[in-house]
Amino acid sequence: FLTLKGVRKSFGPQTVVHDFDLEIARGEFVTFLGPSGCGKTTLLRMVAGFETPTAGTIAIDGRDVTHLPPNARKVGMVFQAYALFPNMTVADNVAFGLKVAGRPKSEIRTRVEEMLALIKLGHLGARYPYQLSGGQQQRVALARALAVRPQVLLLDEPLSALDAKIRLSLRQEIRDLQRKLGITAIFVTHDQEEALSVSDRIVVLNEGRAEQIGTPFDIYNHPRTRFAASFIGTLS
Ligand code: ATP
Repeated sequence: FLTLKGVRKSFGPQTVVHDFDLEIARGEFVTFLGPSGCGKTTLLRMVAGFETPTAGTIAIDGRDVTHLPPNARKVGMVFQAYALFPNMTVADNVAFGLKVAGRPKSEIRTRVEEMLALIKLGHLGARYPYQLSGGQQQRVALARALAVRPQVLLLDEPLSALDAKIRLSLRQEIRDLQRKLGITAIFVTHDQEEALSVSDRIVVLNEGRAEQIGTPFDIYNHPRTRFAASFIGTLS
């Protein structure tokens, strides 16, 4: 459904993603796991259209999107934190993508209500982001990303700014919502426990290369490289 073929990214002389291949099935939840600087955000940004690959192709549902700008792809993205528009209400934040797409007002109103109900914040539509907790803000960011009915949901360390307890409940909430909607998702994290607990498959990244791609069970029980073993915590 989502295909990356020979994807490479260089910034000047530095290559941060090396000839990367991956095939993601429709409805799959795939995690890019690796230490800081391994290239996971750059990979995600290429899928979103914020960066163009130096080489290779990216296709979504059979359509080559490699050179399309973000608004011409059907992707929704959730960032680390603090990415809501601070001067807009919660409802207006969720409505943003629909307004940009020129959807009719009545449709926008219905969709925003539906999205706020989905993330259980139906009663907070009139509030501003600063009046919400960090976890609530990230749920609004999720609703904003999903409101335009994207084909792919991209999650760039959406939990890393939250405290441990909220992190635990929100990751389960994200996963439940993703399953319920049947949406294809890529989740980026440097937290192995998080990756092991939510993913259908994990891509272990090291210096812009996939060290191993497999189910959490495979990766935990049969790490194929020393790096994978040490990063996943089975080698001290
Ligand atoms: P982190 O978790 O710290 O964000 P990451 O695994 O997501 O790390 P990337 O952000 O993808 O890693 O960065 C990979 C490498 O590419 C880093 O060495 C970074 O300095 C470099 N890089 C990323 N964006 C640019 C840019 N616009 N120009 C130059 N170098 C960049």
